[in-house]
Amino acid sequence: MTSLQTTLLSQAKDSELLEKAKRASEDYLRERGNGPVYPDETRLADLQVFDTPLPESPQDPHVMLDLLIEKGAPATVHHSGGRYFGFVNGGLLPSTLAARWVADTWDQNAALFVMSPIAAKLEQVAQNWLVSLLGLPPESVAGLVGGTSTATLCGLVAARNHLLKKLGHDVTAEGLFGAPNLRVIMGTQTHGTVKKALSILGFGEAHIEWVDADAQGRMRADALPSLDERCIVVLQAGNVNSGAFDNFSLLCKAANEAGAWVHVDGAFGLWAAASSQFNPLTQGVQLADSWSVDGHKTLNTPYDNGIIICRHAEALTNALHQQGSYIQLSEQRDSMLYTPDMSRRARGIDLWAAMYTLGKTGIAGLMEQFHGLAVYLGGQLEKCGIAPLNDIVFNQVIIQGIDDAHTMRILATVQQSGDVWCGGANWMGSAVIRLSVCSWQTTQADIDTLVSTLAACYQQTPAD
Ligand SMILES: *Cc1c(COP(=O)(O)O)cnc(C)c1O
Repeated sequence: MTSLQTTLLSQAKDSELLEKAKRASEDYLRERGNGPVYPDETRLADLQVFDTPLPESPQDPHVMLDLLIEKGAPATVHHSGGRYFGFVNGGLLPSTLAARWVADTWDQNAALFVMSPIAAKLEQVAQNWLVSLLGLPPESVAGLVGGTSTATLCGLVAARNHLLKKLGHDVTAEGLFGAPNLRVIMGTQTHGTVKKALSILGFGEAHIEWVDADAQGRMRADALPSLDERCIVVLQAGNVNSGAFDNFSLLCKAANEAGAWVHVDGAFGLWAAASSQFNPLTQGVQLADSWSVDGHKTLNTPYDNGIIICRHAEALTNALHQQGSYIQLSEQRDSMLYTPDMSRRARGIDLWAAMYTLGKTGIAGLMEQFHGLAVYLGGQLEKCGIAPLNDIVFNQVIIQGIDDAHTMRILATVQQSGDVWCGGANWMGSAVIRLSVCSWQTTQADIDTLVSTLAACYQQTPAD
């Protein structure tokens, strides 16, 4: 045995190491919520302790853990608690954290069935549950990726190759050399990650056919250009600012009739399809060809959980397949066929655990809870003279000050408060404050804290 092995073996036998990690995690879950949502200057300055040279030799893992616990934890942004309303950062279900701990210990590689039958099994089960829960076509398959950005990339590469194949061009063999031109049609309110994916895939921004949005950020169905079999249409379930949903029934029908491909960016909003309460929003969404959605936003799984769902299994796997003499495919699920990556952790376990422990009514209930609290938030803000700018159809609320400068000053004051945290954006040409309700922990009392903090910040911030 080498001396390094002896050192690592003694670490493996040191039960106190994992005990300490467990105690610290429990303390964090119990106590971090009482502290500021966002770390103050002192805690941020403390991060300097990590600026050390790479150690010359192995170090005591207890010293490493103590550093994380003493200096890392206080500097975390507590977005899994009840008072964080920034971005659309979801909370953390305790059950999925527990599942993740166990699965991390297993250290499974989810690439192939032969590498991890349990990872393959739970991914398959999670896929089946998801497709049925969201009411998507039963032949749909799902790939588990890091987030919606990658999921959208997967949906669009499947779209590109599938449409080109139907036009007689094989992208796998020929690349884009000599390929017929495709058309990309999307709303002016499309999320930035879609543009990034299109750019990676060789679709220039200058060629995108932009469709005007209505006052809520929905693609205007009456402004849709005439479609054909060369079109990829990108729609969204949940505008990142307003939470608005595109009119899927109308738009998908037009696309289907033309032989176009529809991709739906449903990062946080697609889960609305789990509750009949949101039927008017999600109606027709099943008529699309591919969908991207996150587990780590409104479903509240831990991070690193994005999903591409595609009704054309072959289009997805043809676009993402890879060969190698050592790759041993099976008759079972080989998850690497559905994603760009090969080796990766078993993300399906988090997703399975979240869906198993919430069940159908729990998932629907969580979305309804976010919506109910967002509506309550809008009502309370209105009472303070801060009227929301959007129709609160899901979990997003946007507000603003008298002008952009005023809005930005209010936002800075809120962010410095430490009581709550929210972010800003540009909405229809002016600065806004975005409030997103997406943690299971958020209660009505947390919304009251948010409203009183916002009201105080408005009051103490004079307009110029
Ligand atoms: C968050 C978000 C994305 C990006 O998802 P990631 O998981 O961060 O990659 C894309 N679209 C919308 C509408 C989003 O809210």
